[in-house]
Amino acid sequence: MKENIFNYSRLKLENYFLENGEKKFKAVQVMEWLYDKREYNFYNFSNLKKELQKKLDEDFTTEFIEIEKFLEGKDVKKFLFRLKDQEKIEAVLMIHDYGISVCISSQVGCNMGCKFCESGRLKKVRNLETYEMVEQILLIEKYINKRVERVVIMGIGEPFDNYDNVINFIKIINDSKALAIGARHITVSTCGLVSKIDDFSNLDLQVNLALSLHAPTDELRSKLMPVNQVYNLDTVMKSIKAYIAKTNRRVTIEYVMLNMVNDNIADALNLVKLIKGMNVYVNLIPYNETSHIEFNKSSKERINKFYEVLKNNKVNVTVRKEFGGNIKAACGQLRSESD
Ligand code: SF4
Repeated sequence: MKENIFNYSRLKLENYFLENGEKKFKAVQVMEWLYDKREYNFYNFSNLKKELQKKLDEDFTTEFIEIEKFLEGKDVKKFLFRLKDQEKIEAVLMIHDYGISVCISSQVGCNMGCKFCESGRLKKVRNLETYEMVEQILLIEKYINKRVERVVIMGIGEPFDNYDNVINFIKIINDSKALAIGARHITVSTCGLVSKIDDFSNLDLQVNLALSLHAPTDELRSKLMPVNQVYNLDTVMKSIKAYIAKTNRRVTIEYVMLNMVNDNIADALNLVKLIKGMNVYVNLIPYNETSHIEFNKSSKERINKFYEVLKNNKVNVTVRKEFGGNIKAACGQLRSESD
């Protein structure tokens, strides 16, 4: 069966050519056609011999997933994609002062079951293949006729539950001969799959790691995020500390603000205690209410008070700008329209 060529990193393509008795620099030539010239017909790769064009066509496809629907809000655009097996995923493009960023999906559905998350209502159907992640970006770039500058892997799915494909994806988009997105402009977010955080810390990637924390005590976190019953806070924070020690990189702590649930002053103080002395940066996320889920958004006043407690305790903290609530494109609202 033909494999989609966007599953192939430079290294894998080089090995393919070597195995087929060709020079490995052909990999870069192919990547230039795909990612620079955006040419997807192998027979038009004019600097390759006819036989090699044919061989590529026999072994690979450049088939694309499809944009089924597109929604546009202020500073935000949502793309609903239909995959080859008719499953659906979404990606969100956000226009910041500092550039264009895209939040992509890594799975069809998600098994983590976070209670406040719309995406988590859909059980995991399957992992995305690498090409299905790469193509989300290629199609968005084509649609807006601009280059994407930042990528966050924070849409539908838990990226570390699809670890190998996500790491392969990161390597491809970071490659200067592919999408050339700087490592520091790539963020992968996990709800705390400890064994994968440990693996991730052993990779020599300069990408950013974010931990979806959302609660500062085991009691509360276990209620909101079932993953906490497997990896409790002590275990997760130890693993994050080890990651920071090993990589010398700052970790982002994501904290969604749920009215009267995790936004009390006591929660802020517990959070301060939990991250004391760690090289982290806290991102407070105003919650986007949905019709399906019972949580409410914290008031501006409660968010500000929470923020002040953190600030006064010398925590690096920001409140995330609100995006996309009006088109159901905000965090936790991504979901398949077919559900
Ligand atoms: S917040 Fe992330 S990990 Fe949790 S259910 Fe939603 S998509 Fe899955």
